[in-house]
Amino acid sequence: MSFDEVGERVWRRRYESLDFNVGVVEGDEGLLVVDTRASHDQADELRSELPELSDKPVRWVVNTHWHWDHTFGNARFPEAEIWGHETCRRMLLEHGDEMKEGAKVWLPDEYHPVIDQVEVVPPSRTFAQRASLAIGRDVLLDHHGLGHTDADIVVRVPDADVLFLGDLVEESAPPAFGDAHPLEWPHTLASVPLAGSMVPGHGDTVDRAFVARQQEELEEVARLAGEVAAGRSPEAAAAEGPYPAEVMRTAFERV
Ligand SMILES: [Zn+2]
Repeated sequence: MSFDEVGERVWRRRYESLDFNVGVVEGDEGLLVVDTRASHDQADELRSELPELSDKPVRWVVNTHWHWDHTFGNARFPEAEIWGHETCRRMLLEHGDEMKEGAKVWLPDEYHPVIDQVEVVPPSRTFAQRASLAIGRDVLLDHHGLGHTDADIVVRVPDADVLFLGDLVEESAPPAFGDAHPLEWPHTLASVPLAGSMVPGHGDTVDRAFVARQQEELEEVARLAGEVAAGRSPEAAAAEGPYPAEVMRTAFERV
């Protein structure tokens, strides 16, 4: 696989590992990278591929949220401003070591030393609601509320009609509820203005119909989670849900 141009001078690179998407936006004097992958060596691999697109340096990095698979490559972009939600910075500063242990649960044993070596680097530039980056073209970072985590942001490139959704939308697997706010997530997603070309954190690019369908599913999860909180049997509620029972149970536990 290689880079797909999803809008003018905007690319995404889908990696086999975790079905992960990295975004790249070319500005006049540098590149902006959306999410840095799960380790130093994965970030180095990404860096080694960027010259296919442009010889400009990486001057900006954006973390869509604090999860390790989106942030553990940050240390390999020392020359760049790293942008993220203020809670993303706080979580990485306070819980970086725990996140490494959490990452290992998902990874084969032989990969654990690579995770141990990660230097957790939080965003250096933070905001609460919106930031606008002038990189020779406008790039807008917006936090719409609680969702997949407490610090999700979407990255919009208006002149290319491209939106990077982070894990607010997932294409290659059900949405991940481990750190989620299931009751708020559907409303948060509903408040995101959509775009012609949209890239989720994992999997294939998505269209408006896909996002609408996932939002309906998230509403269904929220409704069932509310019923469980009011006393309904989790097993019965999970059986009605749009996702596998294990995913549903995780969502219920978060409410
Ligand atoms: Zn995530």
